[in-house]
Amino acid sequence: MMDNILEGKKIDETRQGEALEMASSSNPNGKKLFLESYGCAMNFADSEVVASILIKQGYQTTNDELEADLILINTCSIRENAEERVRKRLTNFKYRKQHQPSLIVGVLGCMAERLKKQLLEEEKLVDIVAGPDSYRDLPSLINEVEGGQKAVNVLLSREETYADISPVRLDNKGISSFVSITRGCDNMCSFCVVPFTRGRERSRDPQTIVQECRELFEQGYREVTLLGQNVDSYRWNITNKGEIKDETKPTTNFAELMAMCAEVHPDLRIRFSTSHPKDMTDEVLETIAKYDNICNYIHLPVQSGNTEVLKKMNRGYSREWYLNRIDAIKRIVPEAAISTDIITGFCGETEEQHQDTLSLIEEVKFDFAYMYKYSERPKTLAERKYEDDIPEEVKQRRLTEIITLQREQGMVINQSYVGKTVKVLVEGTSKKSDDMLCGRNDQNTMVVFPKVDVQPASYVNVKITDCTSATLIGEVVA
Ligand code: SAM
Ligand code: SF4
Repeated sequence: MMDNILEGKKIDETRQGEALEMASSSNPNGKKLFLESYGCAMNFADSEVVASILIKQGYQTTNDELEADLILINTCSIRENAEERVRKRLTNFKYRKQHQPSLIVGVLGCMAERLKKQLLEEEKLVDIVAGPDSYRDLPSLINEVEGGQKAVNVLLSREETYADISPVRLDNKGISSFVSITRGCDNMCSFCVVPFTRGRERSRDPQTIVQECRELFEQGYREVTLLGQNVDSYRWNITNKGEIKDETKPTTNFAELMAMCAEVHPDLRIRFSTSHPKDMTDEVLETIAKYDNICNYIHLPVQSGNTEVLKKMNRGYSREWYLNRIDAIKRIVPEAAISTDIITGFCGETEEQHQDTLSLIEEVKFDFAYMYKYSERPKTLAERKYEDDIPEEVKQRRLTEIITLQREQGMVINQSYVGKTVKVLVEGTSKKSDDMLCGRNDQNTMVVFPKVDVQPASYVNVKITDCTSATLIGEVVA
């Protein structure tokens, strides 16, 4: 579907619907958990927290839903079609329950927060509804269901960061992992449901973040992605007005946190997502430039190239401000790849405003972009204040124009790598051919090359000989 076309790759939404089995060999309660995650990287990271909590309760994970006693779906509400996919899945499970009445089905995450009543009472699709801040409560929610009740906890918290819970890694490749640094969002972009489903922004204790990175490195991981809806607003012991909370303790901002993580080990690559144009400082860029192991890759969602539209979106910056931030990236981190998110057909968007988005794409020359049609979300400011008045076919046509332009530019950027040598973190055999290996370069572009005798999670230098619009092709050099 065009709406979900992903240009290049994105840490979120690339593993949609994947059910993952992890190494939990003991199984004290004899019960099996099937855990499926949709949506953003934050959801995948949360599922690892959920797995950790339930393994402690004696569950073993399975990737065969047919043998599960407990099915949990970690859901996404960002666009309507994301919710529709989950609803279809839940309807299937409802029929399964007719043959297996003891089966417990739970909805976690953003849809739980948004649709608790419908899912539980009206459509009777699930037994458990647990919002993003209530995962510690899952064992008692399961007990309630086993006692014959439906169970719900969708309370949002101002403090919960799950900082003390060691996530159980669900991606059994053991190379790259997500590490949450903030939860929630205080930004209130007018199109976005996240502040309603994930609550207020909180930052996690930096010591626990560094400790998690250290443990991952010791377990053999070679890449972490620091996650937050707006990583640039990470702050520890600092109020959102910039005042120090406790003078006797150190403060940490995002640039300092990145440096602390980079110092865990030079062979641990640090990535981060998502940067916000209104908050990304030169200090952050200088820190990226200073450390070789902080990746030269910045995901900086623009959403629209027109200042009036940005104002209606409540993004907190203008086209000029965004371009100024792009200039700063190109000046301070010239090697950086830049990707973005774009929404087409936002309320009232005129043809000229759409042209401004196209001209911004031409001006910036993004390495990748993730492009969506506007999808009205209940309760958001845009739903209350503006009309979703751009016809579907116009949204679609504008999206196609944007995708076409971005593809052409992505191809030109990839061609500029031909003849260069890039450092690649090997992930394993390429999906396209058993004779090829694959991995990502510093700039987050997928690189494929003929098999050589190297293990996953090691670094190799690859000389680029060819490319597509999404992939670099090359061969290992000394
Ligand atoms: N926090 C990130 C930021 O501000 O850039 C974005 C997080 S959101 C999970 C990912 C992307 O989904 C957004 O950047 C936006 O392009 C898209 N998105 C969010 N709400 C949307 C909506 N109502 N319709 C279409 N796309 C939407
Ligand atoms: Fe949504 Fe805006 Fe927060 Fe991103 S910054 S999660 S788009 S409200």
